[in-house]
Amino acid sequence: MQQRIAIFPGSFDPYTIGHHSIVERALPLFDKIIIAVGVNSLKKSFMTERRRVEAIRELFVDEPRIEVISYSGLTVDAAREHGAQFLLRGVRMIQDFEYEKNLAEVNRELSGLETVLLYTLPEYGHISSSIVRELLSFGRDASSMLPPGYHINE
Ligand code: ADP
Repeated sequence: MQQRIAIFPGSFDPYTIGHHSIVERALPLFDKIIIAVGVNSLKKSFMTERRRVEAIRELFVDEPRIEVISYSGLTVDAAREHGAQFLLRGVRMIQDFEYEKNLAEVNRELSGLETVLLYTLPEYGHISSSIVRELLSFGRDASSMLPPGYHINE
């Protein structure tokens, strides 16, 4: 039987407890999830591409069903390259919903890929990579918003 493979694309700059919860809740739905760190060479990132990938990999050393990659270019191309038939995304609030709806339509038209959306758990609804970056830039502790064992720096 064909494996059900999902790709979970994002900037993950950094990967938060909200992202992690989406991956953990989606694991029973798929045989494999590819966490795909999107690289935009025009945008300055907070963490390097290498660190963004490695920090997530460290969380899943004992989970063979998770693969972590980085990609530049279109998500649908990365999905095809890695044999994913589904796109996984998370929704926090109405703004996410509208954005994700458009993205899902474009990706389906481009490649036939179906998007699977999971709603955030209520306790993670306010968490975003940008809030974590903001807290850290003012020297505050943001560890409660990051998965246990996730390290921004090596
Ligand atoms: P992008 O730049 O592609 O939006 P992000 O890293 O910000 O990348 O997010 C990747 C995915 O994770 C998106 O679908 C986003 O809606 C979802 N996401 C982000 N934060 C949360 C959260 N706290 N709870 C659930 N989903 C989230």
